[in-house]
Amino acid sequence: MAKYKMKSCPFCFSTDVGPWRMLGSNRFYHVKCSACGALGPMFEEFDSSKKGMEGSVRLWNKRNMIFNQD
Ligand SMILES: [Zn+2]
Repeated sequence: MAKYKMKSCPFCFSTDVGPWRMLGSNRFYHVKCSACGALGPMFEEFDSSKKGMEGSVRLWNKRNMIFNQD
């Protein structure tokens, strides 16, 4: 099921994480941890490039890196 290269959740360290489209939205995406419910930064898909999920994964991985430097 792991379609994207994802970092584990910075809160519970689960790898059960993946990009989701926000409910009721057709252009906002974020990564969600299925284990603890943590949400990654929101990513807006500005055009129909279909890069929304990819973008949210990129933000998630970036945030995790910053978190680990603490
Ligand atoms: Zn988690």
